[in-house]
Amino acid sequence: MEGTVIEDNPPQRRSPLAPVLRWFDTSVQVAEVDPEVDDRIDWLRALPFLGLHVACLGVFWVGVSTTALVTALLLYVARMFAITGFYHRYFSHRAFRTSRPVQFAFALLGASSVQRGPLWWAAHHRHHHAHADTDADPHTPRKGFWRSHAGWFLTRGGFRTDTSRIRDLLTFPELRWLDRYDTVVPVLLAVLLFVIGTALEHWAPSLHTNGPQLLVWGFFVSTVVLFHATVTINSLAHRWGRRRFDTGDDSRNNWWLALLTFGEGWHNNHHHYPASARQGFRWWEIDLTWYGLRLMQAVGLVHSLKPVPAAVLAKAEH
Ligand SMILES: [Zn+2]
Ligand SMILES: [Zn+2]
Repeated sequence: MEGTVIEDNPPQRRSPLAPVLRWFDTSVQVAEVDPEVDDRIDWLRALPFLGLHVACLGVFWVGVSTTALVTALLLYVARMFAITGFYHRYFSHRAFRTSRPVQFAFALLGASSVQRGPLWWAAHHRHHHAHADTDADPHTPRKGFWRSHAGWFLTRGGFRTDTSRIRDLLTFPELRWLDRYDTVVPVLLAVLLFVIGTALEHWAPSLHTNGPQLLVWGFFVSTVVLFHATVTINSLAHRWGRRRFDTGDDSRNNWWLALLTFGEGWHNNHHHYPASARQGFRWWEIDLTWYGLRLMQAVGLVHSLKPVPAAVLAKAEH
């Protein structure tokens, strides 16, 4: 475990370049925990995140093709499933079981979404469930829409991983590595898309694409849309929609957010019974992640999906 990011008391390595080095190695420490500044946005570290958005303007330069749009859509679908099925329902809630290779494969796919590593994601999400819509919840919309949507994780406090919440996941060195070097997988995906686009330009000119076009649509546009869709569950799904259960927080059920996020929009259901792999409690509550997980179970890739207890389903009928 030597040299990994996620120690309870990480070694303090100081360097004037530390904020920039942290773009590449999240174990680099820039400051002690300080409640005074922990809540402020760390703009230098946020630069790559802002850069992702600016890079989307590249669409005006690279143009568009069916190939580029299909690539962007497929990467949205695959990575949304990795985030909702694995980062959320598996790593954060342990709602089913799987093998170590499948766990790693979907951790990799999730990591390519530029939502940091699975340990950071799960630690913050478990914290959210423990303190939903209280002062201790970093992304409650009670602190304002932008703070709940994107501001919270750009703060110094939001950058850290509370290892006490994810002790069960720390035993996997491959997951710790993904968390420490959380830019490696996204950069590899970007490079891969550029290379594939360049190859297609030469060998399949009828597809009318090229390296820069596949990079801009497949990586930048797809990732930014995926990011904003994911975090609507923190911002909008605690504001807009219906409350079936009195959960003591502001969580809502919202059908269009559920479609956009493959089932996560049934967020009031989820706050009522977070342990289940299923979040749509009625047949008409479309939950694409649940269907995908059922399919993976049918072919033996995952097992022991935790169902919604009959008593909870009965309550949902009313
Ligand atoms: Zn929530
Ligand atoms: Zn959850």
